[in-house]
Amino acid sequence: MPINLKPTDVVIVGMGAAGGVAALPLAQAGVKVIGLEAGTWLTTRDFAPDELRNNYRAWPHSVQKANREVPTHRPNASAPYSPRPAFHPMMNGVGGTTLHYWAQSWRLSPWDFKVVSETTRRYGASRIPAGSTVEDWPFGIEEIERYYDIVEHELGVSGKAGNIDGKIDRRGNIFEAARRREYPMPPLRWTDWHEKMAAAARKLGWNPFPGPAAINSRSYDSRPGCAYHGFCARGGCHVNAKGSTAVTTIPKAQKTGNLDIVTEAHVTQVNIDGNGRVTGVTYLKGTEEYFQPASVVLLGMYTYENVRTLLLSKSKAFPNGLANNRGQVGRHYMTHATGGGVQALFTENLNNWYGLPAQGVAVDEFAADNFDHSSVDFIGGGNLFVYSDRRPIGAASMNTFGKAPQWGSAWKAFVKQNADRWHGAYMQKTTLPYEDNYLDLDPTVKDPLGFPVCRITADFKDNERKAATYAADKMEQWYRAAGATDIVRNPLGTMGPSTHAYGGTRMGDNPASNVVNRWGITHEVPNLGILGASVMGTSGSHNPTLTVQALAWRTAEYLVKNWAVVSR
Ligand SMILES: Cc1cc2nc3c(=O)[nH]c(=O)nc-3n(C[C@H](O)[C@H](O)[C@H](O)COP(=O)(O)OP(=O)(O)OC[C@H]3O[C@@H](n4cnc5c(N)ncnc54)[C@H](O)[C@@H]3O)c2cc1C
Ligand code: SF4
Repeated sequence: MPINLKPTDVVIVGMGAAGGVAALPLAQAGVKVIGLEAGTWLTTRDFAPDELRNNYRAWPHSVQKANREVPTHRPNASAPYSPRPAFHPMMNGVGGTTLHYWAQSWRLSPWDFKVVSETTRRYGASRIPAGSTVEDWPFGIEEIERYYDIVEHELGVSGKAGNIDGKIDRRGNIFEAARRREYPMPPLRWTDWHEKMAAAARKLGWNPFPGPAAINSRSYDSRPGCAYHGFCARGGCHVNAKGSTAVTTIPKAQKTGNLDIVTEAHVTQVNIDGNGRVTGVTYLKGTEEYFQPASVVLLGMYTYENVRTLLLSKSKAFPNGLANNRGQVGRHYMTHATGGGVQALFTENLNNWYGLPAQGVAVDEFAADNFDHSSVDFIGGGNLFVYSDRRPIGAASMNTFGKAPQWGSAWKAFVKQNADRWHGAYMQKTTLPYEDNYLDLDPTVKDPLGFPVCRITADFKDNERKAATYAADKMEQWYRAAGATDIVRNPLGTMGPSTHAYGGTRMGDNPASNVVNRWGITHEVPNLGILGASVMGTSGSHNPTLTVQALAWRTAEYLVKNWAVVSR
């Protein structure tokens, strides 16, 4: 029998990007919150600039939950399984994956919220790809703008605004929706490499601008500015310049006295009563099992675990998994199309040994609906992003551009000369949800506790492949304008376990096709909320986390304002 604990107002499962943000407005409003986190606290001493450990050996070694439950994948229901990765880079720790993420902190484009209505208005309904289950979000970007603004200031985001109250500034992103004010800090600095790429973009008539980053460009909120030494792409920041929730919103919430965090608490079940209301959660800490009662439960365990935990939480009232009586849990799954990369070789050193991947030049001309799609046969697009950050193993693993063999002295000589002369772009492309792309429980593969892992059945469709080719063409054009002599293009790949996984508990007003309502509360269980990109109905062509965090704040604020109704 589990040990029964004292009841609390809200339990948040997962103290990561989403849970770590939601805790703050709740705690500030006087709501008693318990944060259950599978990982531990990590400190700056844990964040060694060690490429081998961080990037190749699935750091950290202390908590390996994500690595023990890597989802399986098959491109479609009758295809064989893809090889299962040995590990998954999501983090288990207080702060979650914001501890070691790249920290690009993008707002979505206005079109991403209104894909169906805006595409239909501009090009006709026939342009929505066949088989796509895409819906408009239940609100437009203007609804979420206030929350973007709040989290940018709570976490500390560096950047340059391109549109303040409709006034366009070409030093920022001229395609962004109107924002109410400037970023809290100026952008991370540029090097000669960034200037070279920005000049090439301008030559092409494009508008390059610095990508936004949750990394201090100067001291902010008692944390220092970035020192640009790098090694923090999959590594934490040892001076706390990165705005992980572990050093921003979580400590602020703890200071109120209303947030208690239990680490190494592995939640296995969300419990309900006979009326279909959540009563709390069951978790394991070591070999002991506990039941934590709560008036409201918020799941913020990342997309795969949000879905898996709901599907595993079966009961008489919910025989197919919690909040799943309409069969929507696991549906409308997407991952960003970030494959199909373009690499370029230059004739001179780029001096990229210093820096970090959120320190970059972005081009948004080809993202979302920022260009006229009348003459192309796809919708959506891609954000083009070039950045600094070069590490020894990664550099030496370079493509030889057909100019040298893959081994031996000729290879060594080539790498010695060119290790700092190549670059690979990061391109995030629109992915849409489709009827046959979904998550469920794997029938045979289990985690060490004996629970089935999540199974992904998904592949990119024609629209994603065409958008990816288009973005790669533009990227090649950009590199060549900057003087690249050789280009290599990689295949797009398929939709295996991803760090940008969306859907599975989609947000929408219609309970027949969505798991959570516009506030992030499940349609079927009135005191259960979901945090994270699992609620997002479109991916957009920019990183997810700032949107995830803005939505988390919004859900928490809704709870505070409607406490009597939701917690009753
Ligand atoms: C290397 C890397 C780079 C990235 N770079 C960027 C970027 O530049 N910009 C961007 O926007 N996004 C980036 N991402 C993605 C970003 O990290 C995620 O979008 C974000 O962290 C998701 O937030 P989340 O709260 O849903 O999950 P997480 O931040 O992963 O938090 C989930 C938390 O839940 C805990 N948990 C899971 N299961 C349980 C359980 N059963 N019981 C208790 N606790 C549990 C986990 O331990 C974890 O702490 C990157 C990801 C990686 C891996
Ligand atoms: S480069 Fe900046 S964000 Fe990265 S570890 Fe150094 S100070 Fe921290």
